[in-house]
Amino acid sequence: MKKILVLEDEANIRSFVVINLRRSGFEPIEAETGEMALEKLRVNPDICLALLDVMLPDIDGFEVCRRIRATGSKMGIIMLTAKSQEIDKVTGLMTGADDYVTKPFSPAELTARVDALIRRLGIDEDERSSTELVSGPFVLNTRNRTLEKDGQRLKLTQIEYLLMKLFMENPGKAMSREDILTAVWGNDFKGELKTVDVNIRRLRIKIESDPTEPEYLTTVWGYGYKWGY
Ligand code: CA
Repeated sequence: MKKILVLEDEANIRSFVVINLRRSGFEPIEAETGEMALEKLRVNPDICLALLDVMLPDIDGFEVCRRIRATGSKMGIIMLTAKSQEIDKVTGLMTGADDYVTKPFSPAELTARVDALIRRLGIDEDERSSTELVSGPFVLNTRNRTLEKDGQRLKLTQIEYLLMKLFMENPGKAMSREDILTAVWGNDFKGELKTVDVNIRRLRIKIESDPTEPEYLTTVWGYGYKWGY
């Protein structure tokens, strides 16, 4: 998971940002003061992006930004500025920030800016280009391993997640129970083919409107299963 530094002294804004980053599959690292932020950066050299508030109790966000750049770091930096701080945008970009977001901002806006910057900086391009599998009402996010149906999160076990990934990557393809067992449980698994059926049955209860008349995860009689959507 990609680490993002969140420097913000106001606890409610900070937790709002943290919750939304976590929801988008990032690992937020929190800091309340400029000094604390610099310390967190020292112990987490793999932080790829920083969100920096400007008005802080100790050193301001621009100074933190300047100090990060002084170390030669190329990490993404987004300044969080207040509306009245138009001038801050100019100062921020001059001290080496890549972008700014004006408060108050929506979760969607913040995530969009973070995603855009990560794309622009080319951080883990391969991983990002393949983070979502979409099929009908289902969206499988392979970065945070979650499944949504019509925008509603469905709780899956890791095995169920792997089954969904296998099916959604192979739409319309009939897969034998042996193939499924090997793909999901691995070559060394000594279990029975029944294991596949048991888990498919459980998965159907979660994803199908009527598990007895499956619409998506259909049975291929005498063979196995397929993603029928
Ligand atoms: Ca502040």
